[in-house]
Amino acid sequence: MTALPIPTRTLNDGKEIPQLGLGVFLVEPGETERIVSEALEVGYRHIDTAAIYQNEAEVGRAIAASGIPRDELFITTKLWNSDQEDPNGAIDASLERLGLDRVDLYLIHWPVPALGTALGAWRGLIDIAASGRSTSIGVSNFEIPHLQQLIDETGVVPAINQVELHPLHQRRELRAFCREQGIAVESWGPLSQGKSDLLTRPEVTSAAEAHGKTAAQVVLRWHLQNDIIVFPKTVRRERMVENADLFDFELSGAEMAAIDGLDQQHNFGPDPATYNQR
Ligand code: NAD
Repeated sequence: MTALPIPTRTLNDGKEIPQLGLGVFLVEPGETERIVSEALEVGYRHIDTAAIYQNEAEVGRAIAASGIPRDELFITTKLWNSDQEDPNGAIDASLERLGLDRVDLYLIHWPVPALGTALGAWRGLIDIAASGRSTSIGVSNFEIPHLQQLIDETGVVPAINQVELHPLHQRRELRAFCREQGIAVESWGPLSQGKSDLLTRPEVTSAAEAHGKTAAQVVLRWHLQNDIIVFPKTVRRERMVENADLFDFELSGAEMAAIDGLDQQHNFGPDPATYNQR
């Protein structure tokens, strides 16, 4: 199985991450193994899952069946909120489900302000990285104050912050902070999860027409040109191919600016400042 020619980005710990992968949030149980197997066949090597998605075991089976050497894959999973006080136990359980002895990236899924355990969880992730059970460590859905606390208290800067981000919710202040701190940004919901009219906006469709690409490809390309890592979710093989076919065109400055103009600072998902689900 041949890997797609997907560029990598260097993280602040010196490790490389493919700029594009496949996300498996809300993939039906029983379907994930097929989808991940197809993605690996298509040439994806980066998979984003989480304990709460309840499909780590299926991701693991697809990896095992693929026969692809472990060091050619980039596997991310995440610490769920109710496990923030036991990251060691949680990663061991995730690794067992995945059938792996390490992941490439382990993220704290949400800051969960009401719990007040994110800092302790971060210390746990630092130990997990030292033990080799995750090559890189980072966070998800962290706002500037949440990031600042981890950095101030431990001196260890997360390699990644994975946040809701798309042209309707561009997170410019957060992205600028992450850039200054050397934190790479991953976007979840890069296509706004199909919850908006983003793919029919003229700023997107006119660029698509000009380049002979689809609206989804234009939006994903906008992310890449902003140095944002993406893993759009799809269960359809032809869309896996489409979503990875982003490296033979470039949006012009004017096209990027037109899409920049779509920012409504509107999140479709939960607000990290108030999301306290356990
Ligand atoms: P997304 O923006 O990737 O949208 C997925 C939807 O877009 C799919 O259901 C599909 O209908 C549609 N789509 C995909 N490719 C398309 C194409 N080429 N043309 C038209 N429509 C297309 O949203 P997502 O799945 O929520 O986000 C991607 C990944 O981010 C997830 O699978 C998951 O791995 C991660 N995620 C993380 C968090 C977090 O809290 N850290 C939250 C949500 C998602």
